Amino acid sequence: MRFIRYNWACFNCRYTTRRFDTPRCAECGRECTFLGPKIRVPPKSNVRQWERLFQLVMAHRRRWQLHSERYHVRVRHQTERYIEKLRHTKPNNPTHARYLRQQIRLYCKRLGIPVEN
Ligand SMILES: [Zn+2]
Repeated sequence: MRFIRYNWACFNCRYTTRRFDTPRCAECGRECTFLGPKIRVPPKSNVRQWERLFQLVMAHRRRWQLHSERYHVRVRHQTERYIEKLRHTKPNNPTHARYLRQQIRLYCKRLGIPVEN
């Protein structure tokens, strides 16, 4: 089995390398930018293609960040609704009541909000 190697680049020096972990640029020493396993790296002399690659990587990062923010907001809302549901659930017996309180505490802690009884 071969190790997976990803493409990494330094956009300042147009330096590239294929590694598994985050490398530093051999020319300026800064941390390289992750490009993934499949992206085609332009020749060092082609400044325009490098500029285009940089724009692509930045656009991809912005999209990913936006997606991840939306995901966290959605999960938070779902958790808040679940806590409300738990709070309005009538326990059948003391064990169930304890379970409900425990679940409420757990999810409140997860959201970083105080537990009210
Ligand atoms: Zn560099």
